[in-house]
Amino acid sequence: MTPLVGKVIWALGVIGWFIIRYPHDRRSRRTPRRTRRDRTRELVLMAVSASGLLFVPLIYVFGDQPRFANYPFHAWQAGLGGAIFGAALWLFRRTHNDLGRNWSVTLEVRERHTLVTGGVYSRVRHPMYSAFWLWALAQALLLPNWIAGPAGLVGFGTLFAFRVGREEQLMIETFGEDYRRYMARTSRIVPGIY
Ligand code: SAH
Repeated sequence: MTPLVGKVIWALGVIGWFIIRYPHDRRSRRTPRRTRRDRTRELVLMAVSASGLLFVPLIYVFGDQPRFANYPFHAWQAGLGGAIFGAALWLFRRTHNDLGRNWSVTLEVRERHTLVTGGVYSRVRHPMYSAFWLWALAQALLLPNWIAGPAGLVGFGTLFAFRVGREEQLMIETFGEDYRRYMARTSRIVPGIY
């Protein structure tokens, strides 16, 4: 099977992702914030994540580089990768709808921020990060290249590792016992597992 199939599915997934995010991004710019945490550090982490999920794969998809890391593509990778990217998009859309105006691209607290614990937030605290992990996993399957494929897992994994604990700290400072109780009954990204 030709790698073009995987590349096209990956590109459609990414385009879908940006279409889902666009209106939330616009609203977010107009929503007043109360606190902004570690802005520079967060921007660096986002650049690392974007390198792995976007820039490195784009070089592979449009420039077929780094060529030495290419390997033969299998049909099952296209099927499984496409299904996982579909699940990622579904979850991503749900998280944006549930978080509403509380969402921000870096660590921030809004004026009149409310703690969301329902919908896709009822069993995991970071379903949007679960969706990003699914994107990274789908990419690893869809791009038959040992560097461009796993780059998303490394890039997003770095952002996740350096952010999630501090985000929970910020939520504890903001919502106190309510967030601690919410933590006690939820997992981070996979229901019942982690
Ligand atoms: N980590 C969450 C949210 C990502 S958006 C997820 O993966 O789904 C990041 C912003 O969301 C943070 O700046 C924080 O202010 C806000 N946030 C995180 N969890 C929240 C929750 N349960 N309710 C309301 N806002 C939350």
